[in-house]
Amino acid sequence: MSFALNDSKLFREACYGNGQWISDGNDGHIEVVNPANGEVIGRVPSLDEGQVSASIAAAAEGFEVWKNTSIADRSACLRRWFDLMHEHKEDLARIMTLEQGKPITESRGEIDYAASYIEWFAEEAKRGYGQVIPAVKPDQRIVVRPEPVGVTTAITPWNFPAAMITRKAAAALAAGCSMLVKPSGNTPFSALALAELGERAGFPAGVFNVLTGSSAVVGEVFTRSGTVKKLSFTGSTEVGRKLMAMCADNLHKLSLELGGNAPFVVFDDADLDLAVKGAIAAKFRNTGQTCICPNRFLVQAAVHDEFVAKLAAALKELKVGDGFDEEVKQTSLINEKAVEKVQRHYDDALAKGGKCVLGERPGKLPHNRVAPIVITGLSQQMQIWQEETFGPMAPVMKFDSEQDGIDAANATPFGLAAYFYASNSDRVWRVSEALQAGMVGANEGAISNAMAPFGGIDQSGFGREGGREGMAEYQQLKYVCFGESGPAA
Ligand code: NAP
Repeated sequence: MSFALNDSKLFREACYGNGQWISDGNDGHIEVVNPANGEVIGRVPSLDEGQVSASIAAAAEGFEVWKNTSIADRSACLRRWFDLMHEHKEDLARIMTLEQGKPITESRGEIDYAASYIEWFAEEAKRGYGQVIPAVKPDQRIVVRPEPVGVTTAITPWNFPAAMITRKAAAALAAGCSMLVKPSGNTPFSALALAELGERAGFPAGVFNVLTGSSAVVGEVFTRSGTVKKLSFTGSTEVGRKLMAMCADNLHKLSLELGGNAPFVVFDDADLDLAVKGAIAAKFRNTGQTCICPNRFLVQAAVHDEFVAKLAAALKELKVGDGFDEEVKQTSLINEKAVEKVQRHYDDALAKGGKCVLGERPGKLPHNRVAPIVITGLSQQMQIWQEETFGPMAPVMKFDSEQDGIDAANATPFGLAAYFYASNSDRVWRVSEALQAGMVGANEGAISNAMAPFGGIDQSGFGREGGREGMAEYQQLKYVCFGESGPAA
């Protein structure tokens, strides 16, 4: 049985607010489907406006408790949460593969990755340093103190059902804020398992909440609430833009982790075997459904044919199948619509002169599976150049000079991640500085780390998660100017 859990209580068909499990939604229920076979795996409540508002009010009370909890206790609580994630890693990974479809080996990796943010912020909680600034006047003292912003909210996507939550929640909780998370309706069970472990770790009521429901309803209440002080959103640029407009009335503090359109540039001095390894790590993880996936491969003319041949040969070895098969590397896309998007990009590319050198038109495999595809002849006129494909298709363009490669890489309004492979150290520095993106992998395909600031520029949003910067997203600065207090009474 692929879905036997060691601890069945981790699979909760109820959401979590104010330290209580809520089984009934006033708006009914949402059914959650296994993308690998279309079967319903469970249901979660669909909360109405009143239920969401009540949880926000409870989170405001939770915030009062939590911000007055000692740093040592906050840190210890986060650390227990981290330990519990490791203790229950296998169950958490199974829940993830069941609802999201990614290979079980990748789900285990995501649990480690998600937990690493909690570990990092359990330590950062102790380092909320302020400043003492020399004043112009001798009788003044200037002190700057970071304070938690208050009740915070998070709306997260389905492609990383655990990590997209922990990298927000751990930072918020470390800063002393409370948080309400609305996970994607496709993948609520991983989020609810985190809530169960958060309860066991000992977070006071109202501090960490996971609410399920229609995104329109929850989004509306989160953004219109005057109690909420911050929204951190990870998802598409289109929805991010809408939410930003909705936050305008209350001027909520915002972090937007949005879509990408990453270039993967291979220069003629690159080690091609390393480049292929990096390409597979970056592009084909989660069957091509990651925001930092290379969407456009740009290869210098002298090494183009050899790179394409090596990439295609390596991709042939990736087994496609069910996520619970330990050997499988490529699984089902999240739903039929996702397969249709890859089909649309494929058809458009071939109609505009692209040539398929590996794979076939998506849609032939069962259960929304798509095997790796490589297309040569990529051009800026193709849809694939403009939009994220979010599937296992690598389109390749040939370029001539170093500057041509850089210009092509930067020819997008998105700026989340960029990758390049080169061996000349001058070129490595030059190109890393010239690429316009929030994150650059220089001879590296796996760039996500809890200790580094993750985030984009331009249409990929703003704000950073992880690193020293991650906690600051949940803090506001208070500057106190101390003047002369007069003779002592
Ligand atoms: P999405 O459609 O924008 O959804 C993201 C979240 O927003 C989900 O929880 C969704 O809920 C919710 N949502 C959708 N419409 C909403 C609305 N009108 N009001 C409030 N909430 C709303 O994105 P997705 O398909 O889940 O995820 C894929 C996208 O996320 C890609 O563009 C990817 O690049 C991006 N992403 C970015 C990062 C990053 O760090 N920059 C990381 C991962 C993914 P429901 O699912 O329940 O509708």
